[in-house]
Amino acid sequence: MHIFKQVADIQQFLNEAAQKNVAIGFVPTMGALHQGHLSLVETSKRDNAITVVSIFVNPTQFNDPKDLEKYPRTVPDDLKKLINEGVEVAFLPAPEGIYPSGKPDPIPYDFGSMVTHMEGAHRPGHFDGVIQVVKRLLEIVQPTNLYMGQKDYQQQAICGQLIEFMGIPTQLHTCPIIREPDGLAMSSRNVHLNDMDRQRAIQISKTLFQAQVEAQTLDLETVRQNAIGRLDHPWFSVDYLEFVDAKSLEPVADFNTSKSVVLCTTVRIGGIRLLDNVILF
Ligand code: AMP
Repeated sequence: MHIFKQVADIQQFLNEAAQKNVAIGFVPTMGALHQGHLSLVETSKRDNAITVVSIFVNPTQFNDPKDLEKYPRTVPDDLKKLINEGVEVAFLPAPEGIYPSGKPDPIPYDFGSMVTHMEGAHRPGHFDGVIQVVKRLLEIVQPTNLYMGQKDYQQQAICGQLIEFMGIPTQLHTCPIIREPDGLAMSSRNVHLNDMDRQRAIQISKTLFQAQVEAQTLDLETVRQNAIGRLDHPWFSVDYLEFVDAKSLEPVADFNTSKSVVLCTTVRIGGIRLLDNVILF
C-alpha cells in the first residue's frame, strides 16, 4: 500500500494512473476505522482498479473543540486494516496540505436549507467544514467514484449536491448502514459509550425499524408520535427526529407528498451524539 502525506506526491501518483485510464475509487474518512468504513472500502475495491482512502480528522467540521480533541485517533491500526483490505493508496494529509493558506476558502455555492436544518441546526458551521474538506479532497484525488455511508444521510446528500455544483464527472455511491448485531449503527463514537448507555442505545435503531414497519400502514403524524414516545426516556435527549425527502432533505408532513422518505434522528446519551436513519420507502 502506498502511504502519501504530501498532496504533490499523491497527485503525481494519481496523474500517472489517470493517464492509464483506470477507475479510481475514493473513500474519505476521519480514521478510527470500523466495519462501516471497511464496507465502503470493499465496495470501492470491487469497482475500481485503485482505491484511495483518506484519513484526516478535519478541524473545520468540529464546532466543539472538546469533541475534536477527544475524537479517537488510531492511525497505525487503521493502516493495518487498510493493508488487509488490499487498499492501494492511503492518504494522510497534514492540515497545511488541505488548507494551504492557513484557513479554508469560502464556499462558492449556496446549499440553502440543506445545510441549516437537522445536523446543521445542532452543529453550526459543521457542514461548511464538511464541504470545504470534501471539495478540496475531490480536487486532489479526482476520483471516478466516491463512496459515502448512508449513516451520515444529510452529509452524503450535501456531497451529491456539491458534485453537481462542481460539475465534475465523479459518481457518488451511497452505501448501506453497517450495524452491530443488536442494531446499533457502527460509529467511531460508540467507544465512548459506557456499558449501560451502550445497552440503552439499542432503542434508537429499534425505534427507526418500528417506524419503517408502521409507515406502510399508518399516517406520518401517528408514526412520528409513536417514535417520539419510544425515545421518551430520561437518559435520552433527542436533538431531532425528522421525516425528510430522500433527495432534497426538505421536511415532509405527509407520506403521500414524497416518492422516498427518510427518517433521520440524532439522540444524545451520556454526552455522546448518536446519528441514525432509516429509509422508510
Ligand atoms: P467518518 O470517518 O465518520 O467521517 O466516516 C467516513 C465514512 O464512513 C462516511 O461516509 C460515513 O458515512 C461512513 N460510515 C461511518 N459509519 C458507517 C456505518 N456504520 N455504515 C456505513 N458507513 C459508515
